[in-house]
Amino acid sequence: MTDAQSPSELETLIKKYALENAIHHQGKAHEKSVMQKIMARHPELRKDAKKIISEVERVVAEINQLTFEDQKNQLTTLAPELLEEKTATKRTYRLPKLKNAQRGKVITRYAPEPNGEMHLGHAFTAFFAHYYAKEYEGTFVLRFEDTNPKQERIEYMQAHRDALKWLGLEPTVERIVSNDIPIFYEKAEELIKRNLAYTCNCPIDRLRELRAQMKACPHVKKAPKETMAEWKKMLKGEFAEGEMILRLRGDMKSQNAVMRDPAIFAIRKAKHCLQGRKYNVWPLYDFAVAIEDHLCGITHVGRSAEFDTRIELQNKIRELLGLLPHPEIFHYARFNVIGSPASKRKIIPLIQEGKVEGWDDIRLVTIKGLQRRGIVPETIKQIAVQVGMTTQPTNIDWSLIAATNRKIIDSIANRFFFVPNPVVVYVQNITKERVCEPLCHPDHPERGRRTLPAGNLFLIANSDFKQLAKGEEFRLKDLFNIKLIAKNVNLTKRTLKIVGGSEEFLIKYKTHAIAEFTGTELKLGTKIQWVPAQTAAIVQVKVRVPDVLFIDNTFNEKSLTVVTGVAEKAFAKQKVGDLAQFERYGFVRVDKKTKDCLYVNLAHK
Ligand SMILES: [Zn+2]
Repeated sequence: MTDAQSPSELETLIKKYALENAIHHQGKAHEKSVMQKIMARHPELRKDAKKIISEVERVVAEINQLTFEDQKNQLTTLAPELLEEKTATKRTYRLPKLKNAQRGKVITRYAPEPNGEMHLGHAFTAFFAHYYAKEYEGTFVLRFEDTNPKQERIEYMQAHRDALKWLGLEPTVERIVSNDIPIFYEKAEELIKRNLAYTCNCPIDRLRELRAQMKACPHVKKAPKETMAEWKKMLKGEFAEGEMILRLRGDMKSQNAVMRDPAIFAIRKAKHCLQGRKYNVWPLYDFAVAIEDHLCGITHVGRSAEFDTRIELQNKIRELLGLLPHPEIFHYARFNVIGSPASKRKIIPLIQEGKVEGWDDIRLVTIKGLQRRGIVPETIKQIAVQVGMTTQPTNIDWSLIAATNRKIIDSIANRFFFVPNPVVVYVQNITKERVCEPLCHPDHPERGRRTLPAGNLFLIANSDFKQLAKGEEFRLKDLFNIKLIAKNVNLTKRTLKIVGGSEEFLIKYKTHAIAEFTGTELKLGTKIQWVPAQTAAIVQVKVRVPDVLFIDNTFNEKSLTVVTGVAEKAFAKQKVGDLAQFERYGFVRVDKKTKDCLYVNLAHK
């Protein structure tokens, strides 16, 4: 590796127009058009046309190698104005077409139960629904399936809204299922009157037994009048929870157990977060979904399961009530994240047992956790496309999330020097203070440079220090070369001549080494990350380093560690939420700031 070379202004300019051209021509830029544009916009460059042509050829060839996504990302950072202007209506993802879809008439939905926050699985569902609604200029519905009063919470509704907003998947319409309870009652009574449903008070075990044996219970013989009377009692609250249900007359002999006279309403007396104690009777999932999909006019429903036994029941309910047509089903693949549970059922106990900090724990694949860790929405979308369109269930490794995210944030994240677990190196033959001025970003000279004063006391990482041998020559990155003379020396004020630095570091960082300046010329050899050992030039940083939560199904007790280190002072200006790259360490997101310390999360290497 060599030190970063700053690309010339000319190169940046060419890159900008080449990227723009590529994006408008399906990812392939044309040298001639790029050249014409540059000459038109920058007449002062015409005199150098010959030189520019060869540069254009080189840059265009380079850019045509990139994926369309990368081109878009680079242009977003380099010259967002060029992107917004003309690509606002262009899509970068291509998913298979929907069956029976008409432009302007497609209606899709994301329908979470508000009993937890959004995780990666939800996000994929929402992404596909949103994608198709936009693709066909249709409607994307956010629907809260809040029919389980004991579980639902208003905060969770808000969390889903916030997560969709962050992901850029904002709904056209929002709908709350519990507002439609009167409609469900109306439909139930229609079924009762037509003798298509009956009340049943079999104990739950008996009911299961009969269902397994494909046998009806005696209540199946009830006449509509009797069922209606009991239904009214249910509504009035005259039965306790579990004492009575309303069952659909399905088919006790069906191979699909779901069809064997399923319960469609149950008594639930807990206080509901929006409806209070207004209702004693609540529709069960399939009944609510079947009717709501019709009420919302849903035309296409995404599913991650190839075969879903519930579809038959939902279709039957709609057929009986004349609520046709059925929505079309489109499929996407199921996925697992290795070592990180991606379901509410597994995440909630981790939170309750205090094994993670909450929904926003950076080890979780919840949207809040991913965001806090430094994963950006674009990464989640790219993975959804990559994973969702395969036909087999996929195991996602964290390294896939990391690799995708790295490509996207690499151009966003500015660079900083950071040293974990520092030790002091004293370079004895330095007589004057120098200044190191690396670029904030090697590809973006327009973002400027930072300044690091370099005296003769440096902090380097203990891990680097351990690997260096006495007599070894190495380079302090972007600065100069030194040779290690002695290791583990107890430096005292008497042995030192401080240039620029401050001896307080001798006390703070106990392991010391002495080195000798050997020149500034760039030589091949080990490059060491450093920061000046000068209080005014550095800032304390605590890095939270996440690992997978489970290894072979066992909770990983070391899944979160904290590394203490120091970063160059410029890093102190970063705000909470900012993404940065600690050179030769990893990408981080600022989580919290105090007067003396920045707390960051390591997104990935
Ligand atoms: Zn019964």
